Amino acid sequence: MPDDAPQLTALRELRDEIKRVIDYRSFYLRYCPNANQSGARLQTLCPIPTHRHSGQGHPSLSIDLTRGLFHCFSRDEGGDAIKFYELMHGATYSQAVCALARDLGLDNKRSTRTLAQRAAPDPMDESQPEPEPLPRARIAAICEAFLKTCRAEEQTEGINYLARRGIDARTIRRAGIAYFPRRAYRRVMRRMLDSFPLAELQRSGLFNTRAHLTFYRHRLLFPFRVEGRAIYLQARTTAAGIEPRWHNMRGGVPSLYNVDALNELPTGHVVYLVEGFTDTLTLLTHEFAAVGLVGAGGLKPEWLAPLARFRVVSALDPDAAGQRAAVAYEELFAARGLRLARIALPTDVNDFFRQHPAAAVEFQLLTETALEKRP
Ligand SMILES: [Zn+2]
Repeated sequence: MPDDAPQLTALRELRDEIKRVIDYRSFYLRYCPNANQSGARLQTLCPIPTHRHSGQGHPSLSIDLTRGLFHCFSRDEGGDAIKFYELMHGATYSQAVCALARDLGLDNKRSTRTLAQRAAPDPMDESQPEPEPLPRARIAAICEAFLKTCRAEEQTEGINYLARRGIDARTIRRAGIAYFPRRAYRRVMRRMLDSFPLAELQRSGLFNTRAHLTFYRHRLLFPFRVEGRAIYLQARTTAAGIEPRWHNMRGGVPSLYNVDALNELPTGHVVYLVEGFTDTLTLLTHEFAAVGLVGAGGLKPEWLAPLARFRVVSALDPDAAGQRAAVAYEELFAARGLRLARIALPTDVNDFFRQHPAAAVEFQLLTETALEKRP
């Protein structure tokens, strides 16, 4: 082994730590205060000194805030935040890593890291291939064991959080939602390590490369079930001011949320297509059948098949994204000879039910009108 190997490892660890904690928006805005933001992107005049841009012309620098990557289209040069720092300061790679770590208050000593830092999900690394996904049966075993372990802990905070949003205990139980308080974090982590090989837990995304459970800030768990078994989890923070609000296992959302419940319904039953967990659970609380999209634009054509035998009604958010999606989904359904009726509420479903005492009756009437209307 070369002599500098330990130093390289330390540098690599520090780089990963930077990527875990850095806020890309504020980092890049420090250098490009006049950048225009659109969604998760910044567009701006490129400030990289060696590019020698005239300062006129089109903004050639594009920044992806989700992944923290920049690209200058005019000079066709790009990379991550560390590379950006190198270019802005004429620094070497190790100088950039050390300076950024200092700026972020990181220390190269493991003992000084907080539990939150050790629990942080692994940063996306473009240079590393994604690990091979686990077989579905193993994923399900991990999900089910995790949910069971969490359910053995005090559920009150999680139940109260959902109750404040009008979701009742019976619905929480039927949806298999689980919670654990932060004080149970180490115990939950240990139980999972006792039950599964670390490598499997890491491949599932439940654990990070530091061998810590990544569900640290996000402890209210929403399972996606197929044939009665959880195959994927999304978790929400119940605390205010935590970004991102959601955390999930590795891999994409596998299905509509609550799709498994459709198996129990008779053909021709009304099923609502809504956005997110809260809206889905709100309708379940009021005895309406519903499936949820994660984000308005998330419907995949292959998810339509299980809906084909129902009368499906969309009740997406009234914002532009929700309305655009509703129209697009009507076409998607129509292309397969299916009909998607549409309800337009003044608010999202959850607010509608919380604000109107007779919401269930109104919702029923709106549904009948929507189903009667011929497209
Ligand atoms: Zn440039």
